[in-house]
Amino acid sequence: MEKLQPILSHLDNLAPLYIAGPCSAESRDQILRTADGVRQAGARVFRAGIWKPRTLPGGFEGVGSVGLEWLLEVKQTTGMAVATEVATAQHVREAMQHEVDILWIGARTSANPFAVQEIADTITTIGADKVAVLVKNPVNPDLELWVGALQRLYNAGVHRLGAIHRGFSVYGQHLYRNLPLWRIPLELARRFPTLPLICDPSHIGGRADLVNTLSRQAMDMGYDGLIIESHCAPQQALSDSRQQITPHQLATLLSGLNVRTHRQPDDSLKNMRDEIDRLDAELLDVLGRRMQLSREIAQYKKEKHIPIFQAERYDQIMTDRISSARRLNMSDDFTRNLMSAIHEESVRQQLTIYNKPH
Ligand code: PEP
Ligand code: MN
Repeated sequence: MEKLQPILSHLDNLAPLYIAGPCSAESRDQILRTADGVRQAGARVFRAGIWKPRTLPGGFEGVGSVGLEWLLEVKQTTGMAVATEVATAQHVREAMQHEVDILWIGARTSANPFAVQEIADTITTIGADKVAVLVKNPVNPDLELWVGALQRLYNAGVHRLGAIHRGFSVYGQHLYRNLPLWRIPLELARRFPTLPLICDPSHIGGRADLVNTLSRQAMDMGYDGLIIESHCAPQQALSDSRQQITPHQLATLLSGLNVRTHRQPDDSLKNMRDEIDRLDAELLDVLGRRMQLSREIAQYKKEKHIPIFQAERYDQIMTDRISSARRLNMSDDFTRNLMSAIHEESVRQQLTIYNKPH
């Protein structure tokens, strides 16, 4: 994706992209009041869902096309850019007719390559330079599916492109409505360093009181922006009422964020990174010596006809290392994963000794 362009060409692209607004457009008054509030809070883009098919049919399913008139009014009266979700060719046509600046593809749609291709083709037919597109991660934790959706749009000529991390759904009750699984969006950012990555703490948390911490974590990790659900009266919201915050709460949240605009590492960061490189080299050297010793042990065990794997030895190593690592502030999970990876490699190396002909 070499030819990516800024999401909003007329805005300063160093500043974070804050998008805020209600889950759904409900009435003209709700839209205009919320838009005014989130603009004052520091959002540069106003969001609102127009078409909202819900998990179970029969609830509020969005106001439909009339809401696009309200978004156009927000654009004209506040100067903010506006964003909405599209899932079909018809949505794209109507949104673009109403001059929506940013289209986003929802988590259920980005999991469906047919729908993404249809959206991409419709945008290209109307004019790919007229909109930016943000692609939410698919509901299931599948990075390739996410990348595939982004590439479909890019290949169709949509170069103002970004990704939204909204968490991944899992069965059962959890603290988060959708698990963040940070390593998936961070891997996306590693593969496509110039692709803007935006966090949606509202759909990850599913609760208003989790939005603050999640937003801070995302910005501390270096995300390019946030999309936050904000409603002038969250308790009365017709969808996602538990996770929406007031524009006033949004203002407090945004003003409390540490924004890291220095993308170029300075000297002290460089020194610390050099030190990390040295430590990693040391770590690998130690691991290499440990593996060498494992091979020597294997040779010995082989001569004495002792089997490679001994369960009590393994349990004892695990318990001992976990408690030592705990004293060094490392989590039990991390130590368990690390030691089991080392052990697996060590067994593999020992097997090569056993398999060698005498
Ligand atoms: C939304 O942003 O309101 C929405 C429906 O999000 P998602 O596709 O992430 O569930
Ligand atoms: Mn929502």
